[in-house]
Amino acid sequence: MLVAIGRQPNSDDIGLENTRVQIDKRGFVQVDDRQRTADDRILAIGDVVGGMMLAHKAMYEGKIAAEVITGGPAAFDARAIPAVVYTDPQIAWAGLLENAAKQQGRDVRVARFPWGASGRALTMGAAEGLTKMVFEPGSERILGAGIVGRDAGEMIAEAVLAIEMGAVAADLDLSIHAHPTLSETEEEAAAAFLGHSTHILPRGDSGVAVYTWLLSACSSQWLTQL
Ligand SMILES: Cc1cc2nc3c(=O)[nH]c(=O)nc-3n(C[C@H](O)[C@H](O)[C@H](O)COP(=O)(O)OP(=O)(O)OC[C@H]3O[C@@H](n4cnc5c(N)ncnc54)[C@H](O)[C@@H]3O)c2cc1C
Repeated sequence: MLVAIGRQPNSDDIGLENTRVQIDKRGFVQVDDRQRTADDRILAIGDVVGGMMLAHKAMYEGKIAAEVITGGPAAFDARAIPAVVYTDPQIAWAGLLENAAKQQGRDVRVARFPWGASGRALTMGAAEGLTKMVFEPGSERILGAGIVGRDAGEMIAEAVLAIEMGAVAADLDLSIHAHPTLSETEEEAAAAFLGHSTHILPRGDSGVAVYTWLLSACSSQWLTQL
């Protein structure tokens, strides 16, 4: 069952009219990147300030507010906030997604690694999964990731770290991932972007090396999904 009634800020009966705090039309408290409201006695964090209404976003903002209150230089500058839908299979994403990039008219390249080509996914009966990554064409920087499949919510952490650190495709590709693990699908997605994934054939194949393991272990099913 999917409950999708939405959420709204509970800011209308807490006396904000007696402060200089600004709220928008929907009731969200307006803050700057240091969680400060227009009233210098009051900082705000979490759902009531809008944005992604998630617990880890609220906690991140709480730490910023605490540091700001104690005179520290903290500000909200996260490049990626992960979101996870705890369904079966799980859906997780972070950073810039393909649709958002299209809406922004931003030139991106998307690399996909279908889990049907992952030995670990096959042994777990999780071959329906997909790891997708969004890259900036020139710099080859990873901008976003979307993962559908078993434990996607755990796996998105690697993508978040890569986005935060400004990693490029080669950083993921050249980081050795344990075999057999689902995390290899992130390495392989980066390799697919670079045109040399071990377990999938690149589009417009020209002189592609096909690995022995690939031929022996995989059915042709996933080859047709690319
Ligand atoms: C069904 C559901 C599932 C969710 N699942 C996830 C999830 O899987 N992962 C995730 O990251 N996020 C999830 N969220 C979102 C997450 O719960 C919120 O983003 C997070 O709790 C926001 O923290 P907060 O401190 O801003 O607000 P809250 O956690 O709502 O805390 C606000 C507190 O203020 C109190 N309060 C309200 N009015 C007053 C008042 N007048 N005086 C004193 N106290 C008051 C409330 O009682 C409450 O304790 C889910 C939310 C819902 C509703």
